[in-house]
Amino acid sequence: MSAKSVPFFNYPMVYKHQEKEILGAMLDVMNRGAFILQSDLVDFEKSIAEFLGVKHVLGMADGTNSMMIALRAANIGAGDEVIFASHTYVATAAAVHFAGATPVPIECGADHMMDANFIEAAITDKTKAIMPTQLNGRTCDMDTIQAIADKHGLIIIEDSAQALGAKYKGKNAGTFGLAGSFSLYPAKVLGCFGDGGLIVTNDDEMYKKMAMLRDHGRDETGEHVTWGMNSRLDNIQAAVLNVKLKTYMADITRRREIATLYHERLGGLNHVQLPPAPNSESERFDVFQNFEIEADDRDNLRAFLGENNIGCPIQWGGKPVHQLKNHGLDHHSLPITEKIFERCFMIPMHPWLSDDNVNYVCDKIIEFYRK
Ligand SMILES: *Cc1c(COP(=O)(O)O)cnc(C)c1O
Repeated sequence: MSAKSVPFFNYPMVYKHQEKEILGAMLDVMNRGAFILQSDLVDFEKSIAEFLGVKHVLGMADGTNSMMIALRAANIGAGDEVIFASHTYVATAAAVHFAGATPVPIECGADHMMDANFIEAAITDKTKAIMPTQLNGRTCDMDTIQAIADKHGLIIIEDSAQALGAKYKGKNAGTFGLAGSFSLYPAKVLGCFGDGGLIVTNDDEMYKKMAMLRDHGRDETGEHVTWGMNSRLDNIQAAVLNVKLKTYMADITRRREIATLYHERLGGLNHVQLPPAPNSESERFDVFQNFEIEADDRDNLRAFLGENNIGCPIQWGGKPVHQLKNHGLDHHSLPITEKIFERCFMIPMHPWLSDDNVNYVCDKIIEFYRK
């Protein structure tokens, strides 16, 4: 056993790396009594709209509600089918389920993104939408997905929970489809102090509907003009996020530096397969929410890393969505995804890792395969 330790994520640092400024912002909100739908939220929404180059942004209670509300606003419900990649959080499928529609899982490719080659075989006369997950801070092949959607008259709603700031051909994740959803859960690339989410759209009609669904069916005048729910981002969270947004690009830069370091140290190892390195593809800018690798003898490697105090979970608790037992999707057989889940896991990736931390993780992986 080593005295060193590299936990998978550092939750206290979400607060501590900007302690004074965050405390100041929170005290200011509390002293103003500005708790729900106040100026800090409006400011945050404006900043995100500018950052993403998108017309409308709504702060939401969490990333799951925001997807469900987007689906409902797009009139997707009972009798409809929505195609998604099984290598995603159960939340993607749960949003479809609670919108009243049926989630239809498909395969992912070698880079773990939705494999667009499997979309057409999953389309039926009930299919209404494709929900690509912009997984691990990377974007899917959006050109191909868009072409298929156009050909079959389907809408796209992106689960961009892990990809705020990721780009495909210069365009931001979340801004390709009719709407894009983000999560602001503490461990996400941009995390708040609890649950939070965002929904973005360039469509005025979608924006109006989603704004009403978020706030009890109220329009701008405050009148309840339709059925709605409550799914608002707290103003105090928005105030915290306004502070965190100031260092967000620096955080992404650090994530990409760490990814580069992992590539320098592990790229030559035959036993592991790494995600594409930063700058290795001209069409993508990845933000590395996670560093998900594939490895030979994965379970023994993970046990060895665990003995050396390195946090290295398998994403989603180890199962893609179609392999969950009680969700009615386990009649699907997705051999490529299933194979990946025998080999994949994540090594630490967050902006507060030191080079020493990263080198320690690499040393232990190299040591494991030498034995
Ligand atoms: C985190 C996550 C979600 C859920 O977001 P919440 O804010 O926790 O509701 C959905 N999809 C993916 C891919 C995620 O990583």
